[in-house]
Amino acid sequence: MVGAIQTSVTCTFTFEAAHRLEWHTGKCRNLHGHSYRLDVTVAGGLDANGVVIDFDILHSVVTREVIDQWDHRDLNEVLDNPTAELLAHRAWELLTMGGLPVSALRLWETPGSWVDLTVDETS
Ligand SMILES: [Zn+2]
Repeated sequence: MVGAIQTSVTCTFTFEAAHRLEWHTGKCRNLHGHSYRLDVTVAGGLDANGVVIDFDILHSVVTREVIDQWDHRDLNEVLDNPTAELLAHRAWELLTMGGLPVSALRLWETPGSWVDLTVDETS
């Protein structure tokens, strides 16, 4: 036995939104859009039903707290400076406040660029 097996479950979501980064010296300064992808992970032990969390609950909380709020929106109306990093942190906050015990979150701004948030076990 090498160690305890950790179980985590993830749901993936997509949304379309616009933003502009005022501080940017390149073309991100201009209003433009992205097809964002959001992956939300919950980790933990299995309950009596053999699940970490019901996929339906995970799906409905993320849809309600983030996707319904941000899809087809101007993200500069959501955050003053809607970088992928700050959007990821805001999504984490919204999901936590919505009662979801998030353990990892990945926000893709493009198919090749993403931000990862995880819990720092050392702090
Ligand atoms: Zn952008």
